[in-house]
Amino acid sequence: MQALDELIGHVEAAIAAAGDERDLEQVRVAYFGKKGEVTALLKGLGQLPDDQRRAAGQAINQARDRLQTQLEARRLALSAAQLDSRIAAETIDVTLPGRRSGQGGLHPHTQTMQRIETIFRNAGYGVATGPEVETEYYNFEALNIPAHHPARAMHDTFYLEGGERLLRTHTSPVQARVMENSEPPIRIICPGKVYRVDSDMTHTPMFHQVEGLVVDRDISFSDLKGTVIDFLRVFFEAELAVRFRPSYFPFTEPSAEVDVECVHCRGEGCRVCSQSGWLEVMGCGMVHPRVLEMSGIDAETYTGFAFGFGVDRLSMLYYSVDDLRLFYENDLRFLAQFR
Ligand SMILES: [Zn+2]
Repeated sequence: MQALDELIGHVEAAIAAAGDERDLEQVRVAYFGKKGEVTALLKGLGQLPDDQRRAAGQAINQARDRLQTQLEARRLALSAAQLDSRIAAETIDVTLPGRRSGQGGLHPHTQTMQRIETIFRNAGYGVATGPEVETEYYNFEALNIPAHHPARAMHDTFYLEGGERLLRTHTSPVQARVMENSEPPIRIICPGKVYRVDSDMTHTPMFHQVEGLVVDRDISFSDLKGTVIDFLRVFFEAELAVRFRPSYFPFTEPSAEVDVECVHCRGEGCRVCSQSGWLEVMGCGMVHPRVLEMSGIDAETYTGFAFGFGVDRLSMLYYSVDDLRLFYENDLRFLAQFR
């Protein structure tokens, strides 16, 4: 009887200590299974004298029934607790704010390009595009840059295998193609990617240009000046001073480079303008009569002007970014500022 009391104590403690249903099953097997300790006690009854066997049998059976009831109760409690914790873990808090997926945006150069296109479309210009893989003829010869012309050295050109084709070094070949295929009046801009062997803080091997071309009767340099000045003021959203410096391009005559009053210091002199107060932003000029003739336009009847500028440079100035490479590193922390 003393052994039975001790055993009851052990079993009760083991039931209480079981942390989950698997622990509890081990308790059941250990005490009530075929080789369990309670089962062994019952089997041992046969060795007792007749007068003790009946009382001992009753006591053991009662204890076993009571313990099995406790075991079952514990099993139900553990099972309920497990279900509760699973429900708690799987609960969806409908009051939490939703997870937002990041919103994309247009690249700053794309936005600049679209603004430029809008400005010129509003002024009555069409938009023309052409191939990025060009022939030497359209990239150079049709623009009055024959072989061995020193201007070719200024264009660090990517030639394709065989040397007959190249990646266009400017968007000017589109002008030649348009002039070949249409009659004046012509009023277009040619936006697009151009390529040069170049890479530093203000140059990347691929960059964007916009070229403008107007060909009609009585087009003069003052038309060019008015167009360029208007464009720069609308683009920078400010009444900036603009100056034209004589320059040289093989495809225009006369030619000029255009400076705009520094958008950062308004002419005072700062790091962006190298203390000069001016920013060089584009090249332009009257279309060379030889270029008109090569494209089949009568240079006696028509005159024209052309201008070209780097979109990347205008983007840098407009957004006040001083390293061009930032635009091409695809760092979302940088790009997200332009949404
Ligand atoms: Zn400045």
